Amino acid sequence: MIVILLGPPGAGKGTQAAALVKRYGIPHVSTGDIFRANLAEKTPLGLEAKGYMEKGALVPDDLVVRLIGDRLSQSDAAKGALLDGFPRTTAQAQALEAFLDKESKKVAACLLLEVDDQELLKRLTGRRVCRSCGSGWHVAFSPPPSDLVCPKCRGEIYQRTDDSQETIKNRLKVYHEQTSPLIDWYKAKGILKAVNGLGEPSQIEAAIAKALG
Ligand code: ADP
Ligand code: ZN
Repeated sequence: MIVILLGPPGAGKGTQAAALVKRYGIPHVSTGDIFRANLAEKTPLGLEAKGYMEKGALVPDDLVVRLIGDRLSQSDAAKGALLDGFPRTTAQAQALEAFLDKESKKVAACLLLEVDDQELLKRLTGRRVCRSCGSGWHVAFSPPPSDLVCPKCRGEIYQRTDDSQETIKNRLKVYHEQTSPLIDWYKAKGILKAVNGLGEPSQIEAAIAKALG
């Protein structure tokens, strides 16, 4: 089962992914997390992605497509995957379809988390995340512990460099220009499930469960 989590930066994809992974027992594949882990390790892939990520631009399609192909070929993804942050362009969606076709697989559902830009800006500027497990906090809405040590994994809680005001604006622009056309693309395939991303995470989790059936 391949499920896509679609939505603008800050929509809550990471939070909802954690719940979905538990429910369906499929691995969470976040291209953003993979790039950040590679950057921390200073791998060639991480160093190539660095400049794009810092500007809030997209990493070139061919690089992302290769990365996803490798990841979906690993044994834990045999039963499916929850894709978070991929595809982000129509070219990536086409490449994913071609990859799955070869294995007689297809995307089961594309879940769209809808949140307006004003709310996204508020969420992203105050966001803090754990460097190790990706758990999130917000300086105003759900402040992190003052020692900035993650209670779940003892990792360091920090602010992503791309969560600065300027970069956020660019990420939203990139989303509207390059990623949002995927909404119609998956709607046309009859597998788009739109869910309101405003509210308590638990409410949204329930709405997603209902949408996925
Ligand atoms: P966001 O919080 O903006 O959803 P992610 O953690 O998913 O961010 O991704 C962070 C950055 O990694 C993006 O701004 C982009 O530079 C790069 N990236 C992640 N996934 C992709 C993708 N599918 N295609 C191109 N670039 C990507
Ligand atoms: Zn953690």
